[in-house]
Amino acid sequence: MTTGIQAKSTGKRSPTIDAEVSELSSQAHTQSNAIAHEGANVESVTMRHWPYPFRAMLAVCSDLDETPNRQSYWDTAEFLNTTRSTPMGEGLGLEVGNTIYFDMAADQFAYWNTDDAGRSMVHSLIRSGHIDCLHSFGDLATTREHAQRALDELEQNGCRLDVWIDHARAVTNFDGEVMLGEGDVTSSPAYHADLTIKHGVQYVWRCRVTSVLGQNVPPQLGGILSSAHPIASGKTLAKELTKHVLSRMGNEKYAVHAPNRILTRSKLRDGQPVYEFLRCNPHWGGVSSYDTAWGIGDVLTDRMLQRLVQREGGCILYTHLGKSKPNASAPLEAPAIEGFRRLAATQARGELLVTTTRRLLGYCRAKEEISLTASRLDDSITIDIDTQKNRYATLPLIIDRDLEGLTFYTPDPDRTRIRIDGEVVPKLTRNAADSSGRKSVSIPWTRLEFPES
Ligand SMILES: [Zn+2]
Repeated sequence: MTTGIQAKSTGKRSPTIDAEVSELSSQAHTQSNAIAHEGANVESVTMRHWPYPFRAMLAVCSDLDETPNRQSYWDTAEFLNTTRSTPMGEGLGLEVGNTIYFDMAADQFAYWNTDDAGRSMVHSLIRSGHIDCLHSFGDLATTREHAQRALDELEQNGCRLDVWIDHARAVTNFDGEVMLGEGDVTSSPAYHADLTIKHGVQYVWRCRVTSVLGQNVPPQLGGILSSAHPIASGKTLAKELTKHVLSRMGNEKYAVHAPNRILTRSKLRDGQPVYEFLRCNPHWGGVSSYDTAWGIGDVLTDRMLQRLVQREGGCILYTHLGKSKPNASAPLEAPAIEGFRRLAATQARGELLVTTTRRLLGYCRAKEEISLTASRLDDSITIDIDTQKNRYATLPLIIDRDLEGLTFYTPDPDRTRIRIDGEVVPKLTRNAADSSGRKSVSIPWTRLEFPES
């Protein structure tokens, strides 16, 4: 299926060549950005799969469970996101987000458990984009009032989170089957979906994890097998295969597996539209193995990273960076640090773009939801992006954030401009040819700025 821009001659003798654009179906296979040509004198423009020059994109999506205190939460974030000197060594300068919840047992780092300095840290990390997901309201949040209190607190501090991730068996969860949530059941005392969606949540994770590495490309189950661990990896493969078979048979619980898409248009049980997303843990031991700070070094292997790049897939990596070994000397120890170094090296080579969950979701949504027109007048090409026509969620795409990184192949980058809803993008990045031999222009990708303290 074509997801690019279809340009065709109008058949008139006008210097303008109008372009028709195929709809960017959410079910489309985003690998195939080829143009369907019609007529003569056609100039072609297509959308690149991932931001130039990268061939794949990954978000480390960590549930904060068992994070002991605010210092370890901060130290981990600072090490991953900056190049400062930190207790774990010189930072890696990646872009990695985190989750937050509110009502938890006293021994866990959580919003209401930490002190004023911890809450202030949370505010600044939310504002900078480095806390990007709500991880339910916590185990001890059982009523609508708990949810209201947490949302009021966020809003009073100028904070908004638009990604929701179910947690354990929290009753505020949205998944009713595995996670036993009632957060979107209107008759439940825990019903909060109306408040939470109004706050801004529109991306929802309901306990769907796959072993298949690389989404938004056709699933390949063979990569799950590990020759060093034939029995365990065979079991993981069998489990994943079952999910895919059930998915194809119309089973609702596993519906997101067969299409292998990061985002699926869905609805909560109270009828509100949301984007459901799929996370991945490709470890040979299964989706719940090595999903921790002590295990992530075994997940972020060279083989895994190269495979993701070769498959040109997206990945929202399921993990828990608050879970260290009992006597750990630091939140991340040597194996995890080595894994993250490999990840940073893959990004430095221009192969894999690492960003937060929220940004990856926004990018995927933008790529699937915008409608495009390319037109040519004399020597210049205009790419018009319409962000409204195919909109599904209540809230619009955020122009300054969700469209960053979108890259379009064009025969003449210097004479190509982009308009978003009629407004010309003032500055574009003009790219040399990539391995496909085609030049491109990009809406500039800007890094999030990590707070000073
Ligand atoms: Zn959790």
